[in-house]
Amino acid sequence: MLGQMMKVPLTIPSLLEFAARYHGDCEIVSKTVEGPIHRYDYAGLARRTKQLANALCGLGLGDGDIVGTLAWNGYRHLELYYGVSGIGAVCHTVNPRLFVEQIAYIINHAEDRYVFTDLSFVGLLEGLADKLKKVQGFVVMTDRAHMPSTTLRNALCYEELLAGQPETFDWSIVDENAAAALCYTSGTTGNPRGVLYSHRSTVLHSMAVNFADSLALSARDAMLPVVPMFHVNAWGIPYAAPVAGCKLVMPGPNLDGASLTHLMESEAVTISAGVPTVWLNLLAHIKETGKCPSRLNRVVIGGSACPPAMMEAFEKLGVRAVHAWGMTEMSPLGVINQPTRRTEALAADQRRELALKQGRPLYGVEIKIVDGAGVELPFDGTSFGSLKVHGYWICDSYFRQEPVAAHDEPGWFDTGDVATIDADGFVKIVDRTKDVIKSGGEWISSIDLENVAIAHPAVREAAAIGRTDEKWGERPVIVAVLKPGATATAEEIRAFYRGKVGKWCEPDAVLIVESLPHTATGKLLKTELRRLYGQAR
Ligand code: ADP
Repeated sequence: MLGQMMKVPLTIPSLLEFAARYHGDCEIVSKTVEGPIHRYDYAGLARRTKQLANALCGLGLGDGDIVGTLAWNGYRHLELYYGVSGIGAVCHTVNPRLFVEQIAYIINHAEDRYVFTDLSFVGLLEGLADKLKKVQGFVVMTDRAHMPSTTLRNALCYEELLAGQPETFDWSIVDENAAAALCYTSGTTGNPRGVLYSHRSTVLHSMAVNFADSLALSARDAMLPVVPMFHVNAWGIPYAAPVAGCKLVMPGPNLDGASLTHLMESEAVTISAGVPTVWLNLLAHIKETGKCPSRLNRVVIGGSACPPAMMEAFEKLGVRAVHAWGMTEMSPLGVINQPTRRTEALAADQRRELALKQGRPLYGVEIKIVDGAGVELPFDGTSFGSLKVHGYWICDSYFRQEPVAAHDEPGWFDTGDVATIDADGFVKIVDRTKDVIKSGGEWISSIDLENVAIAHPAVREAAAIGRTDEKWGERPVIVAVLKPGATATAEEIRAFYRGKVGKWCEPDAVLIVESLPHTATGKLLKTELRRLYGQAR
């Protein structure tokens, strides 16, 4: 017997329509590439998105077409998120920080028909345009006054494209499983892989972002997503904030500590989200100036492990650091660290230790850990194994690609992370499978070693890698960058490990360097570090 409830498809335009109707005057503030601050509200977003949708149809775009974007966090990018998906096309956000060859690969692999670009990336695309044979035209996301002269073929000006278009549009998505958005993983090894989100997965994920024990965005919040809209849809915030009636503050291209703190203060930002490298800069700036944004009460930290020193620094500022874990293949939210009634009652040091774990699964995500033979391991907080996931917003297969080993077990996706899960469901990411240091029979967590190094007062950033070793297979080595003006010898940092980790985990060497290489999403580039420093001496 079937239920007798309405069959309303879960679609991205429904998020926008809700925001426009019930939070129409809630502000969206953007620091533009052109310089000034732009302001409008969800009602304005809906009007312009409909103009855009009409314009896109006028370009001959529609069902299943893929439209690329190379853009910062800003209002025009937000219009593309809704407008492109709203006409049944797919919004393909391209990470401009990738190597140019990868950008060309991604745009060609996706067969983007049009590419929308911020002014910042016009030069980059001009250099690549010859390789992008299938792209019919490029739209520069600016107005006539700022439109550059460009060699890009069929170059259009965004504001001219919208001008005069009707502010009404009949959203016609009927199948909630239709493709809506496309993101590629950074592909530190091999080519990037495409993850094709559906309307349904995106809407369900947005609801989970807003759960009380998740980011809990509300109509009293102002959210500044530092995480870029070209990296896993800015963790779903551009879809989740509108339905919560949460003010959105878009930082544009300036992501340094000074610009972010200034914008947070002037726009009364209460919550922000980003990767640890961003917070390193922000915290350094706050320390220098002694001024923390006065309304900021929580920051969501994910993408890489949040070091204890970072969590403490936020705690001292009265800002709660909320640890979260996920990945492009998971839209990205998988687990998030919010206390339970039981854990809130623990002693302060136990609570702090627990807060460093990545968190508990959200409803909608199933998790398990398995050993090398695929046998499920207990949720006891100590057994560690490969972390597998299953759920409403998890990738079932990669876009236009043969099945890969990560999808071998039907219904489960192997995240490539090694984790423990405790009895309350709190997940601790021990490491990425490929980053764990295998010394003799032991597995050493590179994350744990990095956390100790960063706790040293002179260390700004550190990477732990396995160095090939004849006797042990691999031995840990720390590559560290010191804080400006700080002094410490390699030997002092090595000695700092004593008593903090097992004897066999103490690094064989500490190398002090000027800077560490990062991926396009702000993570330590371990492949490069292993190439530079991982060979046996
Ligand atoms: P990429 O940066 O490679 O495109 P993702 O952003 O999807 O890919 O990265 C996902 C990976 O980042 C996870 O599998 C995990 O290894 C790592 N990661 C994400 N969040 C955390 C976290 N809070 N702690 C530790 N590792 C994390």
